[in-house]
Amino acid sequence: TASAAPRDPATLATSAPERTDAYWMPFTANRQFKAEPRLLASAEGMYYRSVDGREILDGTAGLWCCNAGHARPQIVAAIQRQAATLDFAPSFQMGHPLPFVLAERLAALAPAPLQHVFYTNSGSESVDTALKIALAYHRVRGEGQRTRLIGREKGYHGVGFGGISVGGLANNRKFFGALLPGVDHLPHTLDLRRNAFSRGLPKHGAELADELERLVALHDASTIAAVIVEPIAGSAGVILPPEGYLQRLREICTKHGILLIFDEVITGFGRVGDCFAAQRFGVVPDMITTAKGLSNGAAPMGAVFVSQAIHEAFMNGPEGAIELFHGYTYSGHPLACAAALATLDVYAEENLFAAAHELGDYWEERIHALQGLPNVIDIRNYGLVGAVELAARPDAPGSRGYEVFKRAFHEQNLMVRCTGDTIALSPPLILNREHIDRIFDRLGATIRATA
Ligand code: PLP
Repeated sequence: TASAAPRDPATLATSAPERTDAYWMPFTANRQFKAEPRLLASAEGMYYRSVDGREILDGTAGLWCCNAGHARPQIVAAIQRQAATLDFAPSFQMGHPLPFVLAERLAALAPAPLQHVFYTNSGSESVDTALKIALAYHRVRGEGQRTRLIGREKGYHGVGFGGISVGGLANNRKFFGALLPGVDHLPHTLDLRRNAFSRGLPKHGAELADELERLVALHDASTIAAVIVEPIAGSAGVILPPEGYLQRLREICTKHGILLIFDEVITGFGRVGDCFAAQRFGVVPDMITTAKGLSNGAAPMGAVFVSQAIHEAFMNGPEGAIELFHGYTYSGHPLACAAALATLDVYAEENLFAAAHELGDYWEERIHALQGLPNVIDIRNYGLVGAVELAARPDAPGSRGYEVFKRAFHEQNLMVRCTGDTIALSPPLILNREHIDRIFDRLGATIRATA
């Protein structure tokens, strides 16, 4: 029943809502969730607190985004200060100082040629922005016939029409019509026959990159604008690039004048031990798409990093001409910029990008100790990313993963992700060995209990 007096906003945010009908939840089985909700009320450091008062260990940095942990006072203060100083400023033919300051900071963190930054509000927008920049780049250079985009099977590049077109997950594509024309896909690199339980990067499979040569032979390089891949595919269940695979993709793209885009929405900002996977793997793409860890999840923000060469191609037209007809009302939003600047400070002051190096071995040891538990058919890890793949029930694929996810939350106070029957982990980079022990003790107990 609706109470006569409105509840105060603080209580609204920390207690279960009276009604759940109106909210259509994203990527969620709404009816199942609403029958047994999992609601978070507050967060600090490595932990969430649920509305029923339990402390939940965060094994996923929220949704791969809170790399510096939760409610960091510096970030909170920066957002509060900015909201009271300049809440909003248009970014079209206008500006405010922070996006300029932030772009210089970001450019200094990126691989050398990627010195220009275009702001978005999400990973999906970053992907669609990068695809549009790729098409427009070829066009401004007089190669407008390069319109084909190449993604990869099992790829996840957000939910815009560009992103689902180059993406490779059937459920995200099949309901939405014909999608973008002229898209093709590389094969994915998940090969459990040869690489099950391999630690770090798989040894086998670099030759899968040569499939790009096959697509070039089929379509001709003169029709292909760009290739987009996640260096480590996250949403499909943590799929790693075989050793040498990304290097090979880079060589083939360079040889044929095709742009290479790394979607680093989850690998960016320290997840694999450097700011970007591009640096960790020693492969420099032409663009990098980011979001999530950029602002520690504390404000919606994304960014596309663009190479000097691409940027210069746009800067040759008439002085007064708009170089790119693209952008968002909230591109470079003051609150998001403030959050991102404070986030970069925390990353630097606490040297958090090194955490995946320092803790990566222990993380690997602990996650692989789950081998042998019931239904565990593969374990994958790199940096502070991990996945435990469970055997699918033939009659109900995905149900085993969901069961582990749900019971970990309710019975073990542990937050993990499930994508199908794979349990994915990506903790805040502030964790220590005890947190790692707790994560895998609780996950192991859940897998046993679920068997
Ligand atoms: N690209 C990758 C690699 C992602 O993992 C995600 C989200 O998980 C996205 C794009 C989409 O980001 P967003 O949900 O912020 O639109």
